[in-house]
Amino acid sequence: MKFNEFKYARPDFEEMKAKLTALVSDFKNAASAKEQLEIFDEINMLRRHADTMANLASTRHSIDTRDEFYDAENTYWDEAGPLYEELNAAIYEAILNSAFRDELEAKLGTQFFKLAEYSLKSFSPEIISDLQEENRLASDYDKLIASAKIMFDGEERTLAGMGKYMQDKDQNVREAAWTARIAFFEEHEEKLDDIYDQLVSVRTKIAKKLGFNNFVELGYVRMNRTDYTPEMVANFRSQVKEFIVPVASEIYELQRKRLGYDKLRYFDLNFKFQSGNATPKGDPDFILEQGIKMYDELSPETKEFFNLMMDKDLLDVLNKPGKQGGGYCTEFTEFAVPFIFANFNGTSGDIDVLTHEVGHAFQSYESRHLSIPELTFPTYDSCEIHSMSMEFFCWPWMENFFKEDTEKYKYTHLAGAITFIPYGVAVDEFQHFIYANPTATKTQRKSEWRRLEKQYLPFRNFDGADYLERGGWWHQQGHIFSTPFYYIDYTLAQICALQFWKNMHEDQEAAWHDYVKLCKVGGTKSFTELVAYGNLKSPFADGCVESVISEIAAWLKEAAKQLPS
Ligand code: ZN
Repeated sequence: MKFNEFKYARPDFEEMKAKLTALVSDFKNAASAKEQLEIFDEINMLRRHADTMANLASTRHSIDTRDEFYDAENTYWDEAGPLYEELNAAIYEAILNSAFRDELEAKLGTQFFKLAEYSLKSFSPEIISDLQEENRLASDYDKLIASAKIMFDGEERTLAGMGKYMQDKDQNVREAAWTARIAFFEEHEEKLDDIYDQLVSVRTKIAKKLGFNNFVELGYVRMNRTDYTPEMVANFRSQVKEFIVPVASEIYELQRKRLGYDKLRYFDLNFKFQSGNATPKGDPDFILEQGIKMYDELSPETKEFFNLMMDKDLLDVLNKPGKQGGGYCTEFTEFAVPFIFANFNGTSGDIDVLTHEVGHAFQSYESRHLSIPELTFPTYDSCEIHSMSMEFFCWPWMENFFKEDTEKYKYTHLAGAITFIPYGVAVDEFQHFIYANPTATKTQRKSEWRRLEKQYLPFRNFDGADYLERGGWWHQQGHIFSTPFYYIDYTLAQICALQFWKNMHEDQEAAWHDYVKLCKVGGTKSFTELVAYGNLKSPFADGCVESVISEIAAWLKEAAKQLPS
């Protein structure tokens, strides 16, 4: 069956509820672990069906937002989501309180039980109205950002539409574009501060109602951090400060010399070469053809997987009227296949879709044997290991896509991975400050952000831009508003992906073997367990960051010598 033949029908919620409630009651009355496991299988079959229908509706809606049928279905699922959550809670409760819990845990693994416990800990009917308030505030932020209309180059533009000007070859255009972008945020400074202030206070209220001391504790539960603590994350950040910040500063210093500037200002940081960034040397058909060839050659596993993705039309990557922006990877567990959504635009980002999103999809496909929906994708910190590592496993084929720009691409890719990490940990430390000090004033928040920027991002030169000098930059970072404590996940995963980069240079076959092994176990283990299972060092362990970065810094230094200006 191809993607457009996957049959969609909205499940009848009342019928679903009756079936699941009956199964939960059978489960509670079951006389043995064996019997409970059989019932749990039936429960999961129903849940996989509901998940698949919900994902199918939202995917088809995002492919063509003008389609009225899927628009209505998508709205239905937005509303039905919490109802299904409630059914899940009843299932979790029954399983956690099973008289045969030890036997079930031995069979299913402990991770599902930890996730179920965390899910129950982070919810109570008492907080429903607070959660609605939190969602409303988060969408207020999204709406404000989406409402931006910036007059530039003779036209009104969105923030995304400013992107190409912000990387323009002409320094004056870049400066003007950044200034216009920042002016939008400064103009709405008070509103942004207010939205955030209310988010911090409603989140703190929710945490207290659920019995936590503050939202830091609840934030870790929401992110399903079953095996690491704020103290461990703080230790990771201090390793970044000591070992990565100097390398990132060095990367920017080389960039300054390459560009021939006397100093790099904040609007120069994303401008890497006078001759322009690396771009793919062909149209979307060319890119997909090269993708097939690459995955054919990479391994038998990727060959089978990618051919199936192409044969079943499981990639929708062309920019079309009515299509939503952005990109994502999802899965239809009932059909045991993943799906990739993207909008090719002629930049190196198109190749990232083919490596990063395909990394997520490959893991989902390798995990298709797992029947518990909570366990196919792991937690976000681990998910990004699969995608970011696949980007590096694809390096030997980059020549096919980038031709004469290959060295530029590889250098920018690896250097970008390094320079992102200090920013990621600054965003994380900022949020620890915010939720540990929920009554800090708006000015105190901004000066804390500016203090962190100076520590972790000493190469950011705002050149007198008042709002940025006062600590306003973080208003642009949506995660800080919508998904607290998410950001560190990218940096933890990147440290793991960089270890794969190192390992594949030493022994490609062994590194690939570890990677596939890691993909196959999906989310059946916690982050630190998965890291150990993939023969990687934990980013929290003393010495890990240093051991990863030294070889990479040396590679970058050598590669920089060969780069064009
Ligand atoms: Zn990703």
